[in-house]
Amino acid sequence: MKRLFFIVGFLLSINISAQTDAENIRKIYTNSLTNGKSYEWLDHLSNKIGPRLSGSLGAERAVEYTKEELEKLGLDKVWLQPVMVPKWIRGLPEFAYIETLPGMTTHVNICALGGSVETPDGGVRAHVVEVQGIEELKALSPDKVKGKIVFFNRAMQADLIDTFEAYGGCADQRYAGAMEAGKLGAVGVIVRSLNLRLDDFPHTGSMTYGNLPVSQRIPSAAISTNHAELLSTMLALDPTITFFFKQNCKQMADVQSYNVIGQITGSEFPDEYIVVGGHLDSWDLGDGSHDDGAGVVQSMDVLRLLKESGIKPKRSIRVVLFMNEENGLRGGKKYAEIARSKNENHIFALESDSGGFTPRGFSFDCNDAVFDKVLGWQDLFKPYLIHYFEKGGSGADIGPLKSDNIVLAGLKPDSQRYFDYHHAATDVFSAVNKRELELGAATMASLVYLFDTYGTGTK
Ligand SMILES: [Zn+2]
Repeated sequence: MKRLFFIVGFLLSINISAQTDAENIRKIYTNSLTNGKSYEWLDHLSNKIGPRLSGSLGAERAVEYTKEELEKLGLDKVWLQPVMVPKWIRGLPEFAYIETLPGMTTHVNICALGGSVETPDGGVRAHVVEVQGIEELKALSPDKVKGKIVFFNRAMQADLIDTFEAYGGCADQRYAGAMEAGKLGAVGVIVRSLNLRLDDFPHTGSMTYGNLPVSQRIPSAAISTNHAELLSTMLALDPTITFFFKQNCKQMADVQSYNVIGQITGSEFPDEYIVVGGHLDSWDLGDGSHDDGAGVVQSMDVLRLLKESGIKPKRSIRVVLFMNEENGLRGGKKYAEIARSKNENHIFALESDSGGFTPRGFSFDCNDAVFDKVLGWQDLFKPYLIHYFEKGGSGADIGPLKSDNIVLAGLKPDSQRYFDYHHAATDVFSAVNKRELELGAATMASLVYLFDTYGTGTK
């Protein structure tokens, strides 16, 4: 009999806590949709500050602004974590054309890839060799490549539902194309923009020369998808046409910057840390509203939403706005390095860096036991149409925190439109929908709430 009472009592307590959880999550969503701050913060970040490339004035102002806004929230602690970051500047706008006959030119839209060297003063003019990827380039005889501009034209795969997968399938030509072509004596690289739709906007992104000697470092640029199609068609008609491009970007010395951090100190387990974050830097062509202004303001709002919903976290909850994800990941590495040196026990980290679109769920980097525990929370998310709970990657900035003791997760918004904007001049405030952004913030806050309440233990 005693045992029966115990079981009934136990089941009752589960029921009550499930009810409390549902109520708290309802409060979080209501607050985000009726009283959210994320959209207002994003407006300022995008329209008053603008692009935030590492080492730029915009990045510096974004550090000051977000620190001030976090201070207004009445958190227990707000501080800046110094980190040295690379500084690359685009310089004058790039210029490029296809020349079909002497003097007969067609202008095309390009942008230098982040980290690229400039062209010589007079620009680069050469015949073009088109390839679909690095493997195809490597299979060519070196005399076919020497003195040429290599044109990487592999398109993102349209039938993949997760567009990040399509991106992953093509990013190598942007990242390492110039390094591989430089080894073979090419004089420049043009890469099809990583964009699923056909339009006129070139998309930048990071690239590397690895350990190539300076003499083999050739300029590389992205070309809009429309102009990639045009160039490919013209080459098919006449392989002897030439391509000209000029850019005067530069890599400068590293400069001082900061991660911005705010914390609610835990009431029961202050030495257990939960991190929620996005990256404060952005590329320079648009204003980085989706990438990753959205993740920044959503992460900031997670702490505000918990406070405003009357939730007193048991564990310490930190918002971390990482600097330099785009072209160095220095902020993410620095945060993990300091956390390790202080022996801080991080149990859970959540990143939002996939755009400010309608949230679908999360991907989790954790063991099966924790994942089973997470699956037990699925019903709580059903009213909000959050249904995607899968094991997978998390995010670049929280990646360096990875250990056996931490659960990492990434917010998974709908990804269909993300690459229309990613790293391009189109990534601006008007591309972000207020409700979609706010739903993302609430979804993140709800998961943080659950990990704070139940921890990551599975016994
Ligand atoms: Zn990003």
